[in-house]
Amino acid sequence: MVRTSARRATTSSRAVMVASASDYRDRVSDLAGVLVLWDIDGTLVTHAPSPRDRHAHAVGTVLGREVAPLAAGVGKTDRQIMVELFADHLPSEAEIEQAFAMIDALTEEDMVEAPSTAVSGVDAALLALTEAGAGHSVLTGNSPRRAELKLQAAGLAEHIDFDSGFYGHIHSTRMELVADAAQRLSLQEAVRPVIIGDTPLDILAGHASGIPVIAVATGIYSVDDLAEHTPHAVIDDYNDPVGLSTQIARVALR
Ligand SMILES: [Mg+2]
Repeated sequence: MVRTSARRATTSSRAVMVASASDYRDRVSDLAGVLVLWDIDGTLVTHAPSPRDRHAHAVGTVLGREVAPLAAGVGKTDRQIMVELFADHLPSEAEIEQAFAMIDALTEEDMVEAPSTAVSGVDAALLALTEAGAGHSVLTGNSPRRAELKLQAAGLAEHIDFDSGFYGHIHSTRMELVADAAQRLSLQEAVRPVIIGDTPLDILAGHASGIPVIAVATGIYSVDDLAEHTPHAVIDDYNDPVGLSTQIARVALR
């Protein structure tokens, strides 16, 4: 059910911010049954500059030689990046596992020196959506361990049900990752998933799988860049949790 508030349109954002908690609850949409599947990088967290290219370092360690990093691969899964870095060496499953163990360990080290930080306002947005009845998990190109490490470093892990997440250690492309999520979630009748992501790949994968996508311009893509790929909704940032809950209700509960 979509409930929009006539007041919101005529209320300044400052007035919204000072509204009482009970007033706030009256205005947010009911999101019971909604599972928000968050992308991580650029959507929930931003990164301090990394001391090294972790994927190249992990694959280089397995191969026993220097491996040059790839150009930034926005929206690629960890598995996809590693397989590309193995290049003409076709990695065995054991070598891929070794590379993942290495990158998980490197990420753990790096989160101490150069931790991920929460995107501005997302903590409050997560709380507001939870208050409205939504659950939260992740749909990410990261391995499960890296996902947890990054969100712990950013102080967001407490909001996330990691067991319900979909991760990039199994699938070679985001298309496969999202298609798997759509298939597995379709078996759970009461769950209404919504993807929130910051890249065109999140949007395209959502379209291919039938899961609605809300794009957010908190990564390197602008609202206009993202709108070209026709997400179900696009927002600038997390400064309007009531607006976001309304958008989620609109796209998830159709
Ligand atoms: Mg991203």
